[in-house]
Amino acid sequence: PQFLPANLNDIVRYCHNLSKVHIRKAKIDLTLNLDPSMPEIIMDSDQIGQVVMNLMINAVEAMPQGGRMEVQTRVEAEAQRVVLSVKDTGEGILPEDEGRIFDPFFTRKAEGTGLGLSICRRILERHGAHMEVESQVGRGSVFRVVFPMTKKSG
Ligand code: ADP
Ligand code: MG
Repeated sequence: PQFLPANLNDIVRYCHNLSKVHIRKAKIDLTLNLDPSMPEIIMDSDQIGQVVMNLMINAVEAMPQGGRMEVQTRVEAEAQRVVLSVKDTGEGILPEDEGRIFDPFFTRKAEGTGLGLSICRRILERHGAHMEVESQVGRGSVFRVVFPMTKKSG
């Protein structure tokens, strides 16, 4: 793992470039909303790219009929943190599943591995970051990743 100063917006743009054709074919309307004041923060870009891709793929899979996805970055200077969010208008998550979706091998998909979110969580722990989810069944979900703006803690 390589912890180096990196710009989260660049990572999001890279993931967007890799996935945009697929997303368009899936009839998903994707908006990127990237905070221009993003500072460089110390992170393992490859691993954070994996987190972003996992969240974007889950969003696509939650919208088999198409829908809208928004990927946003926001600098919260006062709180000294940076927030990445991936929002979809998909099927949502059952309240009783919310505590389990980060468990390894928990999946609701016929061909799912249930590993994506647990890997994301482990990567974020190494960054002193964490992830939150807010969801409404039938309306959609938003996954928020919160990074401390100072150096990697712990
Ligand atoms: P997998 O995608 O292989 O199922 P994940 O760990 O990525 O494994 O996700 C675990 C489960 O969390 C999914 O099967 C799904 O039930 C739920 N989930 C994750 N992201 C979303 C989302 N954006 N919308 C609805 N459900 C989701
Ligand atoms: Mg997944």
